[in-house]
Amino acid sequence: MTVEIAGIEAELVARVERETSALLSALIRIDTSNPPGNESKVAAFLDDYFRRHGLRGEIVGEPADRRSFVASLTGSRPGPRLVLMAHEDVVPAAAEHWTEPPFAGVVKDGYIWGRGAIDVKNLLAAFCVVMTRLAEEGRDFAGEVVFVAEADEEDGAVGGARWLTSQRPDLVRCDYLLNEGGGEFLVMPGGQRLYELHVGEKGTAQFRIVVAGESGHASVPLRRGNAVVGAADVVRALHEYEPRLSLETVPAEYVELLVSDPDLRARLLDEGSARAALAELGARDRRAADLLAPLYGVTFAPTIVHSSGVAVNVFPPSAAVTVDCRMPVGWDQARVAAEVAAALAGVDARWEIEWLGTIEGNASPADTPLRQAVSAVMARLVPGSRVVPVHSVGFTDSNWFRAAFPDVIAYNFGPFLVDDGDAVSPLFHNVDERINVRDLAFQSVFAYELVKELLG
Ligand SMILES: [Zn+2]
Repeated sequence: MTVEIAGIEAELVARVERETSALLSALIRIDTSNPPGNESKVAAFLDDYFRRHGLRGEIVGEPADRRSFVASLTGSRPGPRLVLMAHEDVVPAAAEHWTEPPFAGVVKDGYIWGRGAIDVKNLLAAFCVVMTRLAEEGRDFAGEVVFVAEADEEDGAVGGARWLTSQRPDLVRCDYLLNEGGGEFLVMPGGQRLYELHVGEKGTAQFRIVVAGESGHASVPLRRGNAVVGAADVVRALHEYEPRLSLETVPAEYVELLVSDPDLRARLLDEGSARAALAELGARDRRAADLLAPLYGVTFAPTIVHSSGVAVNVFPPSAAVTVDCRMPVGWDQARVAAEVAAALAGVDARWEIEWLGTIEGNASPADTPLRQAVSAVMARLVPGSRVVPVHSVGFTDSNWFRAAFPDVIAYNFGPFLVDDGDAVSPLFHNVDERINVRDLAFQSVFAYELVKELLG
């Protein structure tokens, strides 16, 4: 069955569906589980695909088995530079838990199955077809469109985007970047579709709190100095801590669309009443609360607890609590450290903080020509839909681009048409990852229309 996309000829959509489906199946069959990655195999596949269509790109990066692929198309007149980017690697898959083998690219019941089907070889396939269409049609656009398939996104970014932006900025420096993330939709009670456009990303500051204790025989319980009890106090304190909420990264438009009750809405948009209002929203509409709550500020999530003890009858010298922390754009490690100290002020134990890795968040402005182009194309292709710019809680390679090129407008958006966010979200990094062939075709049609809108 061919997807219907408003204003686009069915025949063209059918062709895009065929081409993207064949490409995605082939890409899934190249196992780029990271670690170890082996992305150079995908880079070579893409190089061959572009050559067969009369286009030339460059395989770049290091080490030799972890390369990226970059190909550029210059338009018929001068203009800005737009990068379409998607990563080559995928997270590992344990085949025994899958309905279909994860690296076979099976097409069944209108879905393409396999690791990378939505994260994010789908966009590699979609963007490839955009590039060949633009070339076939005589490069009738202003500026330059650059296709970037980068290595090493899922587990490190030592090669990949970080390498490209620092070692080959000539290839990837751009005015606009369209990258993975964002584009899932939820259907509002009135039937309206709401799409998240990710214009920025929170930062991560992961750390471990190590609690020191008194060693000794456990037959005489310690009233003080038991590291395990201290760790429990740390977990509880972090869980219950209420950091100051801020409306800085809470778009009023998003609250208005997600919350229909005007009174609750007003309280959500007031810093003084927001905490209680979020709790109330959580009881009424868990999904809306889950979407909004992380936007209000820093979050602490204790995820791992370890004791150094090995014997049941011995008090351990230490215990540790590992914490996932997401911080708003503009925050740094020092500010998180101060917040942790405030959170643990009441804990009666000796503790130290060990940092595991910090990446500061960053964001592009929300009101830009790229935003206008995304909204205009979506309004045409999905009439009545709304696109709302928000900061995402997850990290993507857009972060490296904003850090390296301060003027770049970098957004994450790969819109779905058929399957909504409730259907798509659980499939990320999970078993039975798959994409509807109509969604795949739509992502390619959207990106093509975006190029024409932005650079037309
Ligand atoms: Zn991804």
